[in-house]
Amino acid sequence: MAKLKGLKCRECKKEYPAEPLHVCEFCFGPLEVNYNYDEIREAISRDTISQGPKSLWRYAALLPIEGPPTVGLHGGLTPMVKADRLARALGLDSLYLKNDTVNHPTLSFKDRVVAVALTRAKELGFDTVACASTGNLANSVSAHAAQAGLKCYVFIPSDLEAAKILGNLIYKPTVVAVEGNYDDVNRLCSEIASEYSWAFVNINIRPYYAEGSKTLAYETAEQLGWRSPDHVVVPIASGSLLTKIWKGLKEFEQLGFIPPVKTRVSGAQAEGCSPVAEAFKAKRDFIKPVKPRTIAKSLAIGNPADGYYALKTVKETGGSVETATDPEIVEGITLLAETEGIFAETAGGVTIAVLKKLAAQGKIRKGDVTVAYITGHGLKTQEAVMQAVGEPVRIQPNLTSFEQTIQNTKRREA
Ligand SMILES: *Cc1c(COP(=O)(O)O)cnc(C)c1O
Ligand SMILES: [Zn+2]
Repeated sequence: MAKLKGLKCRECKKEYPAEPLHVCEFCFGPLEVNYNYDEIREAISRDTISQGPKSLWRYAALLPIEGPPTVGLHGGLTPMVKADRLARALGLDSLYLKNDTVNHPTLSFKDRVVAVALTRAKELGFDTVACASTGNLANSVSAHAAQAGLKCYVFIPSDLEAAKILGNLIYKPTVVAVEGNYDDVNRLCSEIASEYSWAFVNINIRPYYAEGSKTLAYETAEQLGWRSPDHVVVPIASGSLLTKIWKGLKEFEQLGFIPPVKTRVSGAQAEGCSPVAEAFKAKRDFIKPVKPRTIAKSLAIGNPADGYYALKTVKETGGSVETATDPEIVEGITLLAETEGIFAETAGGVTIAVLKKLAAQGKIRKGDVTVAYITGHGLKTQEAVMQAVGEPVRIQPNLTSFEQTIQNTKRREA
């Protein structure tokens, strides 16, 4: 029997074939990939992983493809940074940053999900790929489609950051800027997906796409020396990443690669778009959609598809969901840059700001082995920090000018 059994409804458990489907026709629940774990157990071990490719494909046995990977061969396996200077600033002892700002090729964690989605899209026979995006997904789909020679349509809200728009156009897909927010874009794309036989990575092939996020959990466990952290802090947009990090850790436990998982999973949202945090704080078990207003555009999903499951994961693991205001996001970005030399986008600022709050509240304890997920690069959201970084010191091209200026700045700093 093949490792990829098919799809299964998360709610009523009805099974479906491994086709481009994403909603249960009986209960409208979301479909999830259904594996034959006995088969996987035969195909993978800690040794085969360690000796595997230096990319996310070292975990191919746990991903929803049937043949070898064909798209995104260099994604994943990003640095796990021991962040001692940031840890000291936050009063923690054992802090790590999973640095997906340097994912190949488009500098965000979306290069993981897209590598899996497009490999699967080709297996399913699609010649055109598409997505509804808050920014990074469109960049990644555009780049991977160019490399794979697939036709490509990306749909984005029209008010995205300049670098995120350019970061699509350069690869020559059809870029459709929709005058509305992400939730409008997503609604439109669901309609288009039912009319055109394209692989919308986060709509009709979403079950396959979402599995790519598990590789962040696998790498976390492997890079920490085959163990799971005490606490993880994960940014939430649709909520998929958070739920898949938990799923990935549990799979490694189930396969016997790591000891029983006791990780608390906490979520980070921007205050201007925090439907999951609001439900968490109000002790509700359902999500009320909101209208986003935040500089963290990559996380600006007001009606998150997996919000319910993200909330459930946080509660079940004893984690928390906190928010960051726009000024706190900027402060998070600059704190990370100044202490660890990592330039993250606004989502990274949200994660660092929330990490700081959870540490201050004692929800992350001093000795907890903690991993924060830094999911996108700062050069893509320069607008957010332009005002916060100051100006270079300007001088004439001679030593006197340099020394006078340096004396002046030293005096000002003193
Ligand atoms: C898409 C994205 C996320 C969150 O993804 P979800 O799986 O939708 O919750 C986090 N950070 C960045 C930078 C992203 O682009
Ligand atoms: Zn169902």
